Amino acid sequence: MSKLCFRGALFHTLGNPVHNADAAAYYADGGLIVEHGKVLKAGAWDDLQSATIGLPITHLPDTLIVPGFIDAHVHYPQVDAIGGFGEHLLDWLKNYAFPAEMAFADMHHARKMAKFFLSELLRNGTTSALVFATVHPHSVDALFEEALARNMRLITGKVLMDRNAPDELLDSAQDGYVQSKALIEKWAGKGRLGYAVTPRFAPTSTREQLDAAGKLLAEFPDILMHTHLCENKKEIEWVSALFPEARDYLDVYARAGLVNDRSVFAHCVHLTAKERADLGTANSAIAFCPMSNMFLGSGCFDLAAAQEADIEVGFGSDVGAGTSLSSFGSMNEGYKTAQLKGQRLHPFQAFYMATLGGARALHIDHHVGNFTAGKEADFCLLDMAATPLLKRRLSVSKNAEETLFALSMLGDDRAIRRTYVAGQLAHDRDTE
Ligand SMILES: [Zn+2]
Repeated sequence: MSKLCFRGALFHTLGNPVHNADAAAYYADGGLIVEHGKVLKAGAWDDLQSATIGLPITHLPDTLIVPGFIDAHVHYPQVDAIGGFGEHLLDWLKNYAFPAEMAFADMHHARKMAKFFLSELLRNGTTSALVFATVHPHSVDALFEEALARNMRLITGKVLMDRNAPDELLDSAQDGYVQSKALIEKWAGKGRLGYAVTPRFAPTSTREQLDAAGKLLAEFPDILMHTHLCENKKEIEWVSALFPEARDYLDVYARAGLVNDRSVFAHCVHLTAKERADLGTANSAIAFCPMSNMFLGSGCFDLAAAQEADIEVGFGSDVGAGTSLSSFGSMNEGYKTAQLKGQRLHPFQAFYMATLGGARALHIDHHVGNFTAGKEADFCLLDMAATPLLKRRLSVSKNAEETLFALSMLGDDRAIRRTYVAGQLAHDRDTE
């Protein structure tokens, strides 16, 4: 059967609700028709009905159909480091992240973790992600092999680090360049895969290595650049000591040609006004990682200021410093972060950032992010009665806004009943 049909409440966004209140579309009785793995039609059930004649209809009770979630910043090698007690960023890296990454010297371990990680993404309704691998090229191979087998739209890259990390995790400017180039040539554009040049962050790369990363971007204009920026105050002081010639942290990257419209910067908690304006001018994107920022005590990201500067913002789980792979976790902590800043993160905006906004940040929005006809059918069937509390709370909801907000506060992987990748069932909570 090349056509599939789903009936339930349906929500997606057609643009950024901050700029256009009509960009969010909710249908209490909606539907989605998928043909050959792509969206044929989505909207109110009444408008779809004539197109569904003769089709088997999947109509589960209490279902909300949403686009697959997009994680704009996550480290798959750090799954075993999740929930590491007691540190801020720099000591956390030393005590938790680096040891977990060292285990990836073993290809067998990398393969096992790639399978586990992608299964967990799908269990959480996440169908696309921008992922840090490790310094080992085979960590990229392992994740791409597994993502290709599952036909997922996924982007990763080999981490570049040639100083200030354990010896086992260091490459050199030249080796990092050669290995990245070989991986790009091997994987970029294969299936639904994409590559990101991935310097960890300025303190662990020499100027020479950052310049080599810039050279890769110039040679391969379609790939992304993915790194960390202005996460923690001690980190920022360290960067200014290591790169005294740079005007600010962002300028360290800019001098190497790493700040452009295909760059994704995780965190950006402590940006200066100048850095924020420069990100806006360059059309770079930000991955807002509220779970991680709270967990490591890094600070509160200024979402309103980023939106004012017209910067595209997606959510990143930043596991292992983030405490969950669920986009509901990001929405939940993102809302609280906004509260602490005296701002308000509307649920339509939060769902936008977890879907279409993330897709735009990762330059995959012409493929995924909403239910526009012709897009790849990556989506989830959410169970609005997944827990007694969720069922009870949503039974008294008065409108879509309240439903989505309560769901984002109470939801977790139990609310992901099914996840579909390019129209194929990729996770079924009730049979696994
Ligand atoms: Zn990170």
